[in-house]
Amino acid sequence: MSTRGVIARYRPYLPVTESTPVITLQEGDTPLLRLRNVEKHIGCEAELYAKFEGLNPTASFKDRGMTLAVSKAIEEGADAVLCASTGNTSASAAAYAARARIKCAVILPEGAIALGKLAQALLHGAVVLPVAASFDGALDLVRQISATYRITLVNSVNPYRLAGQKTAAFEICDLLGDAPDFHILPVGNAGNITAYWMGYKEYFAAGLSKRRPKMYGFQAEGAAPIVRGAPVEKPETIASAIRIGNPASWRQALEARDESGGEIRAVSDAAILEAYRLLARLEGIFAEPASAAALAGAIQMHADKLLVRGFRAALTLTGHGLKDPGTALKVVPEPKSVKADVGAIADFLGLKKGVPT
Ligand SMILES: *Cc1c(COP(=O)(O)O)cnc(C)c1O
Repeated sequence: MSTRGVIARYRPYLPVTESTPVITLQEGDTPLLRLRNVEKHIGCEAELYAKFEGLNPTASFKDRGMTLAVSKAIEEGADAVLCASTGNTSASAAAYAARARIKCAVILPEGAIALGKLAQALLHGAVVLPVAASFDGALDLVRQISATYRITLVNSVNPYRLAGQKTAAFEICDLLGDAPDFHILPVGNAGNITAYWMGYKEYFAAGLSKRRPKMYGFQAEGAAPIVRGAPVEKPETIASAIRIGNPASWRQALEARDESGGEIRAVSDAAILEAYRLLARLEGIFAEPASAAALAGAIQMHADKLLVRGFRAALTLTGHGLKDPGTALKVVPEPKSVKADVGAIADFLGLKKGVPT
């Protein structure tokens, strides 16, 4: 039997039985990378670790929850799944539904989706319905539809999604030998911060870790309802995956914050883009803009002297940058073309003659 995929790996901690069919693409087991170059660059003496969730099968953390949500849907006899999405949920739902050979329908806020995510959902055969609504409006629609019709909702309001996603906290504890002092992540619909906190609490209760981290969630300034304490009518940020004005797991996010002694804060789009560039240029990690909100948050915490020597912080990099190449191309200079000539290229690169060492 394979021990790969989060259900096989963490079966005792998940709501599955012998008769649950396991629909998996071998998600999870993603790298935890020490960000030594970023630490040095910003002068941070705490240890920063990035959980690169962009290396899941559909290139975001959504796969951890989707394997469980779709497996349970099949167990319960469903033949179709439904979601609203800022992009990654639809890509993941479409892939797991394809593997389970069931239908997938996705409702997208019109014109607000990164191109790679749309391509994924369509190629996996999902029925994609753009609507003239925000993500929050789209979520409202799918909640009503799934309450009345025979189709299973696989947004993070589905409890199996959060149960699957908590496995990322288990992996971090397994890899570090304990929970970190801080866990830092972007907050959109607030499912993931809820799931991580569940995971850390469970591992602690089982005696598998000796501490529980302070949870630090970061919203984008233009889409920061939890920070402001009121829903945002027209959320705006370049980080489309967290462009959410009325998070479904708002209350649970506040609980995670308060029980852990953490905070929910905001970062500007400029800080997100700066962190996005730093990850790529200093660490070789191409994460999507929403993911970079975690590093922007860590940089803000460092400036506030929260991340000092002796502490360890884990950052979730939620998705892969290749999903949204448009944003990358907006923040880099356009390549200049040169003559197809050895001398011209060497001149352009400022090379000196000699043998490579
Ligand atoms: C879904 C998503 C988020 C937000 O996660 P929530 O659970 O909605 O808070 C952040 N980044 C990326 C890349 C995502 O796909």
